[in-house]
Amino acid sequence: MKKRAGRKPKLAVFKFASCDGCQLSLLDCEDELLEVAGAVEIANFLEASRAVVEGPYDLTLVEGSITTAHDAQRIREVRARSKTLVTIGACATAGGIQALRNFRDVKEFTSLVYAQPEVISTLETSTPIAAHVPVDFELRGCPVSKAQLLEVLAAFLHGRKPDVPAHSVCLDCKRRGTVCVMVARGTPCLGPVTHSGCGSLCPSCDRGCYGCFGPRETPNTAAMAAAWKTLGTPERVIADAFRTYNAGAEAFRKESEAHGG
Ligand code: SF4
Ligand code: SF4
Ligand code: SF4
Repeated sequence: MKKRAGRKPKLAVFKFASCDGCQLSLLDCEDELLEVAGAVEIANFLEASRAVVEGPYDLTLVEGSITTAHDAQRIREVRARSKTLVTIGACATAGGIQALRNFRDVKEFTSLVYAQPEVISTLETSTPIAAHVPVDFELRGCPVSKAQLLEVLAAFLHGRKPDVPAHSVCLDCKRRGTVCVMVARGTPCLGPVTHSGCGSLCPSCDRGCYGCFGPRETPNTAAMAAAWKTLGTPERVIADAFRTYNAGAEAFRKESEAHGG
């Protein structure tokens, strides 16, 4: 969507069930954020300012998943006020770590965690925003990458599609010249099935990827699990590896279930 002459596009940021980490990624853009602030009107971003300008909004960033009936209604209202809606982070795109509830009885969790579980009003599941309203673009990561977030904002301002490659973390290892921890040391790594965005951060620190950016496009999770097995990884560990921040992402959910998760 192109910036209209005469007024700045209105940018809004809304939070649902989340830790605020993805919003902090936006605040962490520092110098770039000043440029963004010059190019858009920050109309609703409570993490940054109490000032609220009413919608409709030209671009809305949504962090977090839907875990309550109230939020299920709120996201429909946000969608109705947003011309373009982009979800940011594993919570918003896959349900987040809180989607672990989807595999168990949520009442069991609340009775263990809260002194008065009867006052807790929650849905049985944590679901991504796209399960409730149409989403124009999904940006993955826990948290999202600053560079990819700025690319989404720049693309919006210039009326083009964001250039966010859907390849795996492995390609970033090759580009950086990072030695493959799986091949060289037999360290289990989810990089081959994980979406690029971090610049292969974990392998560059000599550890395996644990999939925080969620599934890449067309991930071969069965081959990934088979490779882990050849390294002697127990079934339970394979199941748990696919069940973290992106446990609700379909490809990871299915592979986890295939290993007893
Ligand atoms: S995706 Fe991760 S960093 Fe972002 S809000 Fe959810 S838990 Fe926090
Ligand atoms: S370390 Fe992991 S992400 Fe990097 S090339 Fe090896 S398997 Fe792929
Ligand atoms: S290497 Fe994997 S786990 Fe580590 S930051 Fe990147 S995507 Fe996340």
